[in-house]
Amino acid sequence: RHLPQSISQGQPSVKHALSVTREQDFAAWYQTVIAEADMAEESGVRGCMVIRPWGYGIWERMQKLLDEQIKATGHENCYFPLFIPLSYFEKEAEHVDGFAKEMAVVTHHRLIQQDGKLVPDPEAKLEEPLVVRPTSETVIGAAFSRWVQSWRDLPVLINQWANVVRWEMRTRMFLRTAEFLWQEGHTAHATVDEAMDETLKMLEVYRVFAEDCVAMPVVAGEKPENERFPGAVATYSIEAMMQDGKALQAGTSHFLGTTFSQAQNIKFQNAEGQQELAQTTSWGVSTRMIGGLIMTHGDDDGLRVPPRVAPYQIVLVPMLRDTDEDAAIVEYCADLVHRLNQLDAFREPVRALLDKRPAKAATKRWGWVKKGAPIVIEVGSRDVAGGNVSVIRRDRLYRADGKLDSQIVAKDDLVENAVAMLEEVQAALFADAKARLNGAIDDSITDLDALKAYFGASKKPGWALVQWAKPTGADLEKVVQWLKGEKLTLRNVPSDAAPADGGCIFTGGAAVERVLVGRSY
Ligand code: AMP
Repeated sequence: RHLPQSISQGQPSVKHALSVTREQDFAAWYQTVIAEADMAEESGVRGCMVIRPWGYGIWERMQKLLDEQIKATGHENCYFPLFIPLSYFEKEAEHVDGFAKEMAVVTHHRLIQQDGKLVPDPEAKLEEPLVVRPTSETVIGAAFSRWVQSWRDLPVLINQWANVVRWEMRTRMFLRTAEFLWQEGHTAHATVDEAMDETLKMLEVYRVFAEDCVAMPVVAGEKPENERFPGAVATYSIEAMMQDGKALQAGTSHFLGTTFSQAQNIKFQNAEGQQELAQTTSWGVSTRMIGGLIMTHGDDDGLRVPPRVAPYQIVLVPMLRDTDEDAAIVEYCADLVHRLNQLDAFREPVRALLDKRPAKAATKRWGWVKKGAPIVIEVGSRDVAGGNVSVIRRDRLYRADGKLDSQIVAKDDLVENAVAMLEEVQAALFADAKARLNGAIDDSITDLDALKAYFGASKKPGWALVQWAKPTGADLEKVVQWLKGEKLTLRNVPSDAAPADGGCIFTGGAAVERVLVGRSY
């Protein structure tokens, strides 16, 4: 499935830019893309990464576009401390149970020299340990209890952009790191209905962001009970399908009911003068989204970044030869960048870059191909003489004969067509991924043998959408354990799935809904 067309059709084979292909080893390919696209690197602390400018630039684009939607839906940004007193967690048993295993804790505030080594000073032990936030429900809940007195103070709608720490044991760059960057929204409401509307509204904001900005199709739905956020009454997610068929939970939105208002005493006087507990929600999207982007759009030549989230959408590479003509080529390119940057694409100024670095043009070209810049333009002295440029579109790098698809077009035509071209790249990446997702969900499986066969080792399956009785408690645990034995997980109950009309694949009883089953990251 992942072979370049030229190979699968028996045409001349293409030599790709990466040393390992998706087909050979998807996990190694993923790490190679991150390294070759200069996105991130190991830091020396396991699970913590250095995010380099191209990776961080993509995050900044994601931040900007999502932040606009968070604000457009009535939320304001604010900032809470990195450290949370341990006692805040002790107030909510289920929440602390969920996070205790992965909390980093600060116990001292000074080091001293001892036998030539720096050690924590026993005299400087904190009276109360401080947790490095794994998420901020507790500390934000404490603030809400100060801010909310009356129904007039509700709703409270806030968001923060921050880093959090969860001491994950199995880490992988962007997808699961010990420290990650994210936004966390937190809201408090007077009624269940209002809080539930908020939970679903933000899930929809995430779905639209993933699909329209990251060009990553997702399935939105409710998580089964065993996959709920610790302390949540209901958890919803968007699930994306990676090119190896595995699921990635790309964002979550939680209806928290009164769990945290009870623990943190968020009470208000209602219009009738009675005291009530507020209903709260929280929702988050992290740098995991970048991992999703890589595994959705990357190919054997590196990353392909959808134009809306590309730090640079059009990169100009002048082909310099250390001759007198160089100055004219650079000037020609600079003028073109200037004109391109005055255009608007996706209701924002176009981001074009002139790459003047002193390196060979071919090295620069392949560097931008591996980084996934949507459009790469090369300009040599012949192009300048003819008023032309050579255009490479990253979404379709090769012609049918396996040669690089570099098109010579007139400079003015490029300016004229640049915006449409960026829109086409964005749409093409989404269409590709959407077709792959649609083609890889099997909704015809009705018994466990068939389910096992579908996920059999020799194939590269996608997901199964199966009917089930929505068991709870111990019955659900049995299902979860059986799935675990097959390396499978329950993903979510898609909001737009057809109603159940058959038997439960796990229990044989009547099914009540359809749930997605898949391998996952
Ligand atoms: P949660 O607060 O657990 O609902 O997490 C919110 C979102 O953050 C999840 O939907 C994931 O997309 C993301 N996330 C959770 N854990 C990690 C991690 N260790 N590294 C990166 N992203 C994460």
